[in-house]
Amino acid sequence: MRVELADVISSENKEMSKQAEIELLSFDSKLGQFPVVKKEPFVLTFTNEENRRLSIQGETEVTIAIPCGRCLEEVEQVFRLTIEKEISLEGGSEETAMDGFSFMAGTSLDVDQLIFGEILVSWPMKVLCREDCKGICKRCGANLNLTECQCQKTELDPRMAAIQDIFNKFKEV
Ligand SMILES: [Zn+2]
Ligand SMILES: [Zn+2]
Repeated sequence: MRVELADVISSENKEMSKQAEIELLSFDSKLGQFPVVKKEPFVLTFTNEENRRLSIQGETEVTIAIPCGRCLEEVEQVFRLTIEKEISLEGGSEETAMDGFSFMAGTSLDVDQLIFGEILVSWPMKVLCREDCKGICKRCGANLNLTECQCQKTELDPRMAAIQDIFNKFKEV
């Protein structure tokens, strides 16, 4: 969704609030494609402040399904976004002054671009379905939160692994 800001940009001290809708269906980045499972309309407030500055404020929550870093089960990650931006309206035309912001095109603001940027900066380093997620067996692919597999035992026991190493060394000789 786009919000036209020409009105508020052209008059100093003007404030405007708009209901903003997020249209993003998925968050597509270098990391992959993640479905947006929940989003809500929210209010964006624009204020044309002194010294040719435009402030943009709002708060919303977006829920995105991200696979658990260990077992790959989808985790619903809630992003609580607080938007607090200040754009300089200084310099020639409004359009050139605001070029640095990917969510602005001329005097219109792209809500989805704005939200995308906010999600990107708060993207978690790692996502786990739970702190003690056991992950997936590297050999048979079983989800170890749901089942136990036989290969798991030898692999997880360091003493067994050490013995296996010795066996392997004998074989090589
Ligand atoms: Zn997990
Ligand atoms: Zn296994």
